[in-house]
Amino acid sequence: MSDKFAKLRHELAIANRILANEGVIDAFGHVSVRHPDDSGRYFLSRSRSPEVVEPNDILEFDLDSQPVASPTVQLYAERVIHGEIYKARPDVVAVGHHHAPAVMPFCISGDPIVPVFHLGAAMGAIAPFWDSRDEFGDTNLLVVKPAEGASLARTLGKHSMVLMRRHGATVVGSSLRELVFRAIYSCDNARYLSEAKRLGNFSPLTPGEIEMAQAIYQLPNAQSRAWEYWERRLAKRGGMPAGPMSVAAAPDPSLARLREGAGRLAKAAAKKAVAKKAVAKKAVAKPVKPRRGKRK
Ligand SMILES: [Zn+2]
Repeated sequence: MSDKFAKLRHELAIANRILANEGVIDAFGHVSVRHPDDSGRYFLSRSRSPEVVEPNDILEFDLDSQPVASPTVQLYAERVIHGEIYKARPDVVAVGHHHAPAVMPFCISGDPIVPVFHLGAAMGAIAPFWDSRDEFGDTNLLVVKPAEGASLARTLGKHSMVLMRRHGATVVGSSLRELVFRAIYSCDNARYLSEAKRLGNFSPLTPGEIEMAQAIYQLPNAQSRAWEYWERRLAKRGGMPAGPMSVAAAPDPSLARLREGAGRLAKAAAKKAVAKKAVAKKAVAKPVKPRRGKRK
């Protein structure tokens, strides 16, 4: 893969880890970003837990979710979610799929998630509900066939988030950072909604409130401020992936220089040790002479 995308793969690895660190995705779930130069392709990690995704794990796929280079590693079974949404939604730049505890009660009960606080407006006015039984009957609940991914994309429609019966949710964004923002705050919103329902009194934001609140959170400053916060929290836990410099495809020439330097240092140290030994021998020998002198 061209090194041109080293920075993008690094950012996608961070997005994976942020969503894991914030409790949106666990061992499962995945995040992708559309290819910046080719809208018919996208980037997604090989099959591994988002919390440990490295830039080098990230592979390129076409919109039929086939890897561009023949894979030598296990791939996510549910990658058709990403490919089929990118096909159906030219405006979408990033896709995330998760089974967050905050949304699962809604995926099980079928109760709608609606925005109930200002940052919750990030999810939009409503998250439609996809029931795989409508078209496919009993399944193992995973979305693995292109037809299942396409069906999910149809239910998502023009919305920003879709709930999946007894499974989880899929969220989209017009950028990777907007996707992360939306995924985290829609989970917060679902949690607050559950709590408010327990208290017995809640109502959604009005359409006007949703529109005005969205205009605020979409400001670049709001996006970068939130990203910086989540990135710092990840870094504090020592969870940042290796930097983009370390994922260069070619071997780093500075490593060879380091090895050469280490060899020279080792030789010099050995020489120094021999010299030190000789000095020590001399030092031991020296006092003998005066003692002999005294005896004289
Ligand atoms: Zn899933």
